[in-house]
Amino acid sequence: MPSTPSSSPLPSQAGHPADDPTSDSPTARKSALAALRGLLPFLVPYKKQFLLAGLALVVAAAATLAVPYAFKQMIDLGFGAAGSKSASHINLYFLALFGVACILGVATALRFYMVSWLGERVTADLRSAVYAHVVTQSPEFFETTKTGEVLSRLTTDTTLIQTLVGTSISMALRNALLFIGGMSMLFFTSARLTSIIIVMLAAVVLPIVFYGRRVRKLSRASQDRVADASAMAGEILNAMPTVQAFTHEEIEARRFAQSVERAFATAMERVRARSLLTVVAILLVFGAIVFVLWLGAHAVMEGSMSGGELGQFILYASLVAGSLGALSEVMGDTQRAAGATERLLDLLAAHSPVQSVLLPEKLPPRTANGAALTVQGVDFHYPSRPGHPSLTQLSLTVQPGETVAIVGPSGAGKTTLFQLLLRFYDPQQGQILLDGVDIRYLDLQALRGAIGIVPQDTVIFSANAMENIRFGRPEASDAEVIAAAQMAAAHEFIDRLPGSYACFLGERGVRLSGGQRQRIAIARALLKNPPLLLLDEATSALDAESERLVQGALEAAMVGRTTLVIAHRLATVQRADRIIVLEHGRIVESGTHAELVARDGLYAGLAALQFQTQ
Ligand code: ADP
Repeated sequence: MPSTPSSSPLPSQAGHPADDPTSDSPTARKSALAALRGLLPFLVPYKKQFLLAGLALVVAAAATLAVPYAFKQMIDLGFGAAGSKSASHINLYFLALFGVACILGVATALRFYMVSWLGERVTADLRSAVYAHVVTQSPEFFETTKTGEVLSRLTTDTTLIQTLVGTSISMALRNALLFIGGMSMLFFTSARLTSIIIVMLAAVVLPIVFYGRRVRKLSRASQDRVADASAMAGEILNAMPTVQAFTHEEIEARRFAQSVERAFATAMERVRARSLLTVVAILLVFGAIVFVLWLGAHAVMEGSMSGGELGQFILYASLVAGSLGALSEVMGDTQRAAGATERLLDLLAAHSPVQSVLLPEKLPPRTANGAALTVQGVDFHYPSRPGHPSLTQLSLTVQPGETVAIVGPSGAGKTTLFQLLLRFYDPQQGQILLDGVDIRYLDLQALRGAIGIVPQDTVIFSANAMENIRFGRPEASDAEVIAAAQMAAAHEFIDRLPGSYACFLGERGVRLSGGQRQRIAIARALLKNPPLLLLDEATSALDAESERLVQGALEAAMVGRTTLVIAHRLATVQRADRIIVLEHGRIVESGTHAELVARDGLYAGLAALQFQTQ
């Protein structure tokens, strides 16, 4: 049944092509911007916060740029010509410098706060939007998209975007301002030295940036190897009983160890590259500083520059160099965030082929007997298998209150029929009417609200018994839940659980027996109290006592509603008002158990083989 969850949501493999920050050719950059534009709708609601963050950013950058100037004043006027200035004058300069520092501190903190807030806010909005969209997708979507991939997009990709909004954008702006401002101030201080500095910057910063990129690529590769190892571990841990039954523990442990070794080797490659980068960077940067200082010292000696100016010059130069390095880093982050945005927006753009119409029709008021169901000339093949019809010219009328058993060999199309009734897919031909209304013109929620389903494999959520039954109708009171459990013959065993209804049922209900799980599912359906009930009888045999209890619960569930049941038990087919025999997606026989046995056709053969007598 469609409600069975995927058992092993593996984390998807990292290393999407869009992650590669080296692909910053002009076209790649342009498409990165185009991809990021998709984020705009998520940013627009927070214009005010952006404005405030921007303001704080400009003030902080201006304060940063003022520091070297204040520094120069302090040296030249404070120390250089101490005798000629009054003490109060000097105090003023020191006070001004401290004032600049105060402004810088407050503005930087405000910028950090606002920008981080924006990053967190936008990420939270994106996560919720993507999740809310994904849960409305039809089964077709989940056939082609791995659960693990959706999970990784919700966590990893949104985190990349958080970095972008919460750090990278402000870093880019701040450093661009510092770069431009710093350069202007450099020219203003000494055009000759600045020309030399530009050449030096290219010689120092470019190799560091280039090599730094390689280090970052290696660090991503190392993360990918770790992800590989944990994906492998995830798969194996989910299949522990099989692994141990085949005594694969050692093999698996070895496979994991190899994978971990690969991660180690990649990590060491990164560490080596990083060590080299450190020594090269320090040598180059210090070499350059010493060289410029040396030039500057000569300039000071010749009298063409003051000591303060030299200090100011060096500070600006280091600001400019730092901002250039930061900008290159931001570029890589932006590329990665662009890839992440694209993948998330892809998810948001996924369009479910099954949609509610804009102006849905209403179901007529419910009758005491349940719903009427008509299937008219339905042809259906799954979207993934166009040449392979699962239902062919299927027509069926079910009266309110009728119980119809559907039997047929495996692959006949029984489950498919249920999927169409729930509108997980639309048929290519024909129509399905619920109480005379084409289900395509009903609101999806109204349609599914009118149908209760008891699947073969009951999904038990990791919650207590009360919440698990309440899943049938979230607004039901405790008393209603208990009443439903009593009708479904589930009350007694729940009451005996430690903590009764508050007992945690364990992940996927591992603490319950098959019969108990089925009775929980029946209680859920009873609580929902739908006019149309779809039952998919479990094929697995239950012991006689459980069988009796489940059978009794099912009988209670069928009262006052129309029931379609995929039947595997003799008791069910015998009690049904009518039996429909499906084969290769067509109805080949129909009638009561006695009639069909007498006819000695496909049903008689199936009945002899398939139905478990009690
Ligand atoms: P039954 O419930 O009677 O055993 P199903 O309705 O599950 O049979 O399947 C009917 C046919 O549709 C089978 O041939 C099966 O292979 C095919 N089928 C079922 N589910 C899918 C799916 N999700 N995608 C493609 N084909 C499917």
